[in-house]
Amino acid sequence: MSTGRGLPLRPWTTTLAAVALAATGTLTFHAVAAQAATCNGYVGLTFDDGPSGNTPALLGALKQNGLRATMFNEGRYAAAYPAQVKAQVAAGMWVGNHSYTHPHLTQLGQTQIDSEISRTQQAVAAAGGGTPGLFRPPYGETNATVKAVEAKYGLTEILWNVDSQDWNGASTNAIVAAAGRLTNGQVILMHDWPANTVAAIPRIAQGLAARSLCAGMISPQTGRAVAPS
Ligand SMILES: [Zn+2]
Repeated sequence: MSTGRGLPLRPWTTTLAAVALAATGTLTFHAVAAQAATCNGYVGLTFDDGPSGNTPALLGALKQNGLRATMFNEGRYAAAYPAQVKAQVAAGMWVGNHSYTHPHLTQLGQTQIDSEISRTQQAVAAAGGGTPGLFRPPYGETNATVKAVEAKYGLTEILWNVDSQDWNGASTNAIVAAAGRLTNGQVILMHDWPANTVAAIPRIAQGLAARSLCAGMISPQTGRAVAPS
């Protein structure tokens, strides 16, 4: 999918830049060239707890600002809002598993943990989100039993390097500042539902671009953000 800043856009932008240069001079050329800038690193934007009625606004903001992200969906919501799972995929997002009902998994036995994870794999796939390869345990709570069930389903556990605190009432400014602390390969925790998070998206995009960082996918091999494949 060529929605990022990858190679498929280069011939088009090069041609446009040449036309723009000939037509109006260097100012336009620089503006176009900036869009084709090389990514000097990748960060993983993640949004938990969806999909929901807020998902269209979130996806709209991400698309408008040329960002791709990983959506850690709850199975119960994937089952309730399958059209939003399809919309996530159509918008170029990656879909992960965030349990079915968002329990404290470390307080459950293996059978219940298995049910939470397996039902979500099925619900996401049934909604058109593919079979997830990434799992984020609710509250970041994990233990050996959780890890054993993840392994059974071929899931890589993804926590985060930076917590935006958007779940805790963080302001838009604070969410933008949190994204500003991301370095190459790192992952930030955000959520599907806070209005301040959607409001932060344009400035997150501007801040990443100013640092030549691009929004990437999370590698199931390393758990780090990498170029989309
Ligand atoms: Zn959550």
